[in-house]
Amino acid sequence: MSTTKEPKLNFNSAWDLAPAPEDTKHISLKKQYDLFINGEFVKPNSKKYFATYNPATEEKIADVAEADEKDVDKAVKAARSAFGKWSKLTGKERGKYIYRIARLMQERAREFAVIETMDGGKSIRESRDIDVPLAANHFFYYAGWADKLEYAFPNKNPKPLGIAGQIIPWNFPLLMAAWKIAPALAAGNTVVLKPAETTPLTALKLAELIRDSGLPNGVVNIITGAGKTGAAIVNHPDINKIAFTGSTDVGKLIQRSVSGTDKKLTLELGGKAANIIFDDAPLDQAVEGIINGIFFNQGHVCCAGSRLFVQESVADLVIRKLKDRMQTLRVGDPMDKNTDIGAINSKEQLGKINDYIKIGKDEGAEMYQSTCVIPKKGYFCRPTIFLNATQSHRIVQEEIFGPVLTIQTFRTIEEVIEKANNIPYGLSAGVWTDKGSKIFNLTTKLKAGVIWANTYNKFDPTSPFGGYKESGFGREGGLHGLSAYLDM
Ligand code: NAP
Ligand code: MG
Repeated sequence: MSTTKEPKLNFNSAWDLAPAPEDTKHISLKKQYDLFINGEFVKPNSKKYFATYNPATEEKIADVAEADEKDVDKAVKAARSAFGKWSKLTGKERGKYIYRIARLMQERAREFAVIETMDGGKSIRESRDIDVPLAANHFFYYAGWADKLEYAFPNKNPKPLGIAGQIIPWNFPLLMAAWKIAPALAAGNTVVLKPAETTPLTALKLAELIRDSGLPNGVVNIITGAGKTGAAIVNHPDINKIAFTGSTDVGKLIQRSVSGTDKKLTLELGGKAANIIFDDAPLDQAVEGIINGIFFNQGHVCCAGSRLFVQESVADLVIRKLKDRMQTLRVGDPMDKNTDIGAINSKEQLGKINDYIKIGKDEGAEMYQSTCVIPKKGYFCRPTIFLNATQSHRIVQEEIFGPVLTIQTFRTIEEVIEKANNIPYGLSAGVWTDKGSKIFNLTTKLKAGVIWANTYNKFDPTSPFGGYKESGFGREGGLHGLSAYLDM
């Protein structure tokens, strides 16, 4: 919980290694990317490649190898052979390698930030100030635990699990790779990781970095492909742990595939968080928190504050301030450092968001969009809110994963707790109030893995993150995240 002052949407961390974002001249991108297996880039067995696009321009960036079951098997064999040596290194030695990865990531921050924005559409300011520094911080944080496992888990004799198969989504491609790889390595496991189809390029840059870092061959293998490639990882008999971040539907499929095997499983799935504003909250600060909660990363955030609950007595005022603030948001070229909301990640995702906007109107909620001009080319969506939404509306119950907010009002604390919890998901929530007692009351009653107070979307490697109900199980980050990679 934090009661610090909420920053404006320009998330400024004075990070001096950050890129001059307009500058794409020094970014080295290849036309074609192969699979990173056993420390080298190798052609896929099928010889097939798929294209990855820049969603802000609709232009193709590169062709990327499509791994099939044979490639997955090759990666798992490399990881198995590397596990023998890696798991026997002292924690101090493992830590040195992980620190090296963290430092190299800082040195190449400019490249990572620009590629992240080109491949996925998020604003360069967010890639530069949030995604890349946080990814590096995850490696720094877990490097520090590598030689302290016995102190972290006293009398438990922690041992690595073996090979971790890791599958990640497209909304925070580099950061999710760091969340997965750093604790796995610190605990002494080896890794086979698959990034999402629309955003493979920063994971492949990370593969280059890992090769350059001198990490022993096969400790981290990064293979690209579609859902079938992910399924081949899940079903490979020699994998000991599956760590998945993605949709609830695919999470359920994976749980079914893994049941009956002795694979360990953690699932980080969807969300539909309640962001709750009480009448005693600092309202201007709360409005910034609403904006950050739903429009950060185009709303492609599993823990996005996508359901706003405002106490009735201040609802008109908050909504007026919110509409005014929405008008100031700049939507457009993600490579422009003044852009607040970049491109929607793919044509498919834009289609899904637009379907939900239509559903919301058909359901009778009242739509309001900012009147900003959006580029003709590329996939963009205006910041959108729905007033007079009700608990039974699909736009309230289902995850949209875009810049679309539903607004409900409430009178009493009991009412808002019941409505906030009456949803299939349980990942996160936000509470805005002047009263510490109200915050403590709500944090015990809201069924959500992460609850922010008087702030929103704050992430730190030391703090655990994960959900209840259809948002999955297991935690990433902190010692909880480390324990998910240990047998004890
Ligand atoms: P997704 O379709 O579930 O995809 C996630 C990853 O799984 C991708 O790499 C995908 O590959 C792969 N995949 C697809 N089908 C698979 C299968 N049958 N077996 C194994 N792997 C398979 O989700 P998404 O659209 O990328 O991401 C959006 C969802 O992720 C949202 O629901 C969001 O809430 C959730 N999310 C949750 C968290 C969290 O921490 N809780 C964080 C971020 C996102 P392809 O890309 O090739 O399809
Ligand atoms: Mg792309």
